[in-house]
Amino acid sequence: RAKADGRNRARLFDAALRERERLRVRLARDLELAIAWRQLHLVFQPIANAATLGIIGYEAFLRWEHPDLGDIAPDLFIPVAERSGLIEEIGLWVADQAFAAAAEWDECLSLSLNLSSVQFRAPGFAEAVLSRARLHGVATSRLEFEVTENAMLVGVQRHEVLEAFRVLQAAGARIVMDDFGTGHSTLSNLKDFNFDKLKIDRSFIAELHDHESSALIVKTTIALGKSLGIKVVAEGVETPAQLAELKLWGCDQIQGYLIGRPAANPGRGAAPRASGLSLAR
Ligand code: C2E
Ligand code: MG
Ligand code: MG
Ligand code: MG
Repeated sequence: RAKADGRNRARLFDAALRERERLRVRLARDLELAIAWRQLHLVFQPIANAATLGIIGYEAFLRWEHPDLGDIAPDLFIPVAERSGLIEEIGLWVADQAFAAAAEWDECLSLSLNLSSVQFRAPGFAEAVLSRARLHGVATSRLEFEVTENAMLVGVQRHEVLEAFRVLQAAGARIVMDDFGTGHSTLSNLKDFNFDKLKIDRSFIAELHDHESSALIVKTTIALGKSLGIKVVAEGVETPAQLAELKLWGCDQIQGYLIGRPAANPGRGAAPRASGLSLAR
């Protein structure tokens, strides 16, 4: 009986895997047309100075409205785009759209873009992004590039990532380690890559008041950032109580539904003026 149960479970698991693979193949095919058919768009979420709550910039997130399947989360389709190689084209499309938006904002506001590790493999990627920013009249010193630790894992890619960081930073752009604490070999990456900012993953912020260990990790990460001389930003801040703790511990910046949800281009004039503290670092 136990054996039969096990076989059934294995069969269900196989079926689920096949289903996922079918979906992946379909998404990869549909994604190829998504740009041309205008199914992709960006939303922007504010990032605030933790002390003043003044908005210092916006992070762009990609959205896909699939005609049959509805809204598809980037966590689902970005990996598909990475594996199919489409991420390069999509990434440059994202950059263009975001630069066009940022060109309308107050010049003190920064623009954060999420980058996939796969994008670094394209030779001249960093230069291409920078020159597009300049074409749109967006100063490269306003730019922040967010990468997750998984972007830094693969050995052969390591020097390419390092070189891309160097080019971007030489142009005054900043590099942010996204989802800090959830990837692999966090601390050695911190040592080897010259980050300008750490973004604490929202899973730790969500548990701030439920798990003592999450609170300690957040507090310690802020202290770590301080001793390394880099900024720390907390993502997924949803409650005033979370904000209060983060401020108490000296977190530099915050982002989350408490400050604002991702929304359409805040636009010229509509964008709140940047706080006097200006550029995000
Ligand atoms: P991320 O960069 O870590 O983005 C944070 C995610 O948390 C976003 O989900 C955002 O909408 C969500 N979020 C923000 N504030 C709150 C909050 O207060 N509470 C909760 N519960 N969630 C909040 P989203 O937009 O679904 O993006 C998921 C991930 O997809 C991003 O994680 C990023 O890694 C990736 N992604 C999004 N856009 C792009 C893109 O243009 N290019 C690349 N390569 N990746 C992207
Ligand atoms: Mg991000
Ligand atoms: Mg994140
Ligand atoms: Mg994330």
